[in-house]
Amino acid sequence: MRIARFSDNGTPKYGVVDGPELAVLSGHPLVDGYETSGERVAIKEVKLLSPTLPSKIVCIGMNYSAHAKEIGQDVPDEPLMFFKPNTAVIGPGDQIQLPHQSQKVELEIELAVVIGKLTKNVSVAEAAEHVWGYTVGNDVTARDLQFSDLQWARSKGFDTFCPIGPWIETEFDAEDQVIESRVNGEVRQKATLADMNFKPLELVSYVSENVTLLPGDVIVTGSPAGISKIDSGDVIECEIEGVGTLINPVA
Ligand code: MG
Repeated sequence: MRIARFSDNGTPKYGVVDGPELAVLSGHPLVDGYETSGERVAIKEVKLLSPTLPSKIVCIGMNYSAHAKEIGQDVPDEPLMFFKPNTAVIGPGDQIQLPHQSQKVELEIELAVVIGKLTKNVSVAEAAEHVWGYTVGNDVTARDLQFSDLQWARSKGFDTFCPIGPWIETEFDAEDQVIESRVNGEVRQKATLADMNFKPLELVSYVSENVTLLPGDVIVTGSPAGISKIDSGDVIECEIEGVGTLINPVA
């Protein structure tokens, strides 16, 4: 099942994707379940929003060996965690803004895990029960600031630097699906999810042993190699086989 969040004339609502339409839900799916209101809307006719409003975005660095190598880092022995603020989140179709502080902003397509319930100290075996579903994330990064600042808060945390969407796929197991980003139709990153060093459920367990995850929180699981600069006017497509395609223009 694919759960989208959309604007109904300014009111955020959820809907279940059914072909080209959404079957509108009566309330918040994590609170009220999947009861539908009977209303249906065409996806093309509504503005999709970020499918979740996380309290925090936990990011995993260097989880694909080829990406660690391309930025001159070693693959860590245990997951490398950092955060993006929730003010960085934008939805499908929203513009990525290039901050004047950076001369080199790059895209990073990542599989995003969306948490479904309070998650603290869960084992890998328990982790799946705590996952609501999966979506596509883009860990937009000011690469020059990542290397000039001691911490990554600024380089990863600018407003609009966390596009998420287009919806949450609740029936998905990360295996060897293709993960691919394109800029203006040209492929920039292409790998499979099998290339991840730490698997999504291992990451949910690991993160939960360090910080408490809340319903709606997001873990972005690291970027494959092929990161590249984005410029004003570009159109970024991030596609994960079996999940969907997240499209964002650069302002
Ligand atoms: Mg990243």
